[in-house]
Amino acid sequence: MERDELATASWLVAGGRPHGPGSPMNPPMVPSSTFQHGADRLYSRSDATTGWEAVEEVVGGLEGGTALAFSSGMAAVAAVLDHLPAGATIALPDDCYQGVAMLVDRGVDQGRWTVRHLPTADTAAWVAVLDEVDLAWLESPSNPLLAIADVPTIAGTARTSCVVAVDNTFATPLNQRPLALGADVVVHSATKFLGGHSDLLAGVAVTAPGRDDLHADLLTARSLGGATPGTLEAFLALRGTRTLALRLAAAQASAQVLAERLADHSGVDVVRHPGLPDHPGHDLAARTLDGFGSMLSFDVARGAVAAEAMCSTVRLVRHATSLGGVETSVERRAGLPGQEHLPAGLLRLSVGCEDVEDLWRDLRTALDAVA
Ligand code: PLP
Repeated sequence: MERDELATASWLVAGGRPHGPGSPMNPPMVPSSTFQHGADRLYSRSDATTGWEAVEEVVGGLEGGTALAFSSGMAAVAAVLDHLPAGATIALPDDCYQGVAMLVDRGVDQGRWTVRHLPTADTAAWVAVLDEVDLAWLESPSNPLLAIADVPTIAGTARTSCVVAVDNTFATPLNQRPLALGADVVVHSATKFLGGHSDLLAGVAVTAPGRDDLHADLLTARSLGGATPGTLEAFLALRGTRTLALRLAAAQASAQVLAERLADHSGVDVVRHPGLPDHPGHDLAARTLDGFGSMLSFDVARGAVAAEAMCSTVRLVRHATSLGGVETSVERRAGLPGQEHLPAGLLRLSVGCEDVEDLWRDLRTALDAVA
């Protein structure tokens, strides 16, 4: 069935599914790098052969554009950056996934481009810079400060040559659809919420209708750069995406409860979650997002040592990097390269699908132990 016939929850389940008598219920995995001559498909680095086209159909339908699957979120990010001409200028938020900031810095060191850092929430500064930069990179909510960018205003502002790219990993296409707001391209780490089970690395870049030029360039970058996802990853990404609506609904309901309870705990200084009324981006998030998401961060009052101790005390919550899985995970982010702007005791919490009371008991017990 077509995207416009279905509500989002139905599209997540039905999109990209084989149809017709004798069809398998799921697109099969095709573990073959090459195909015998005589038809269109030849080689799995460049031809749609391994099942990734079904994930592309589903995610493209969710975001309202044309999707390309990549072997990781960073591969999708790198393809978008590689699109820039030599000497380009990039506007980058002062808080974003540190891998993106490091990749941009690397290009600066190599003399490929220059970068201007802007506060995520300073909408006027972003709008003012659009005529001066080649790429405006937005990430909202941001990782890990949960800053909110005014995507409708920034992406919706008319411009001549600047590409607006939005990393939609934290929001997911269920809570934010930047292409409909005027962005040119959306990227995801499908490793996170789309996959949802911490069992794969994958990425997606979705270009806006009318940006066939950008799509063609990203496709070339993927084929020649070799950042194509494998057949198992494509299968797992699609399988995970089927349940995105259910997982996200459960996780973000729990995140709201945990954010409120953490904010009331004497061992916690600051809680950052767009659903909290005193979060700086709350009003904008309430206006522009369809949900507040399941990510939050908080500062352990007694600082870095206590925060690390909390990470090793939790039992149900797992001490691990990454996010967006069915399991709740926590990590201290300061101290990582590119994260020097963060408070030393900041913990990032990715809320999963466990029972919220079990999660709270685990977090409270650990907090009480280190407070
Ligand atoms: N964007 C965001 C917001 C992320 O959190 C991450 C990874 O943590 C990435 C991009 C990179 O994705 P991947 O690890 O799949 O390469």
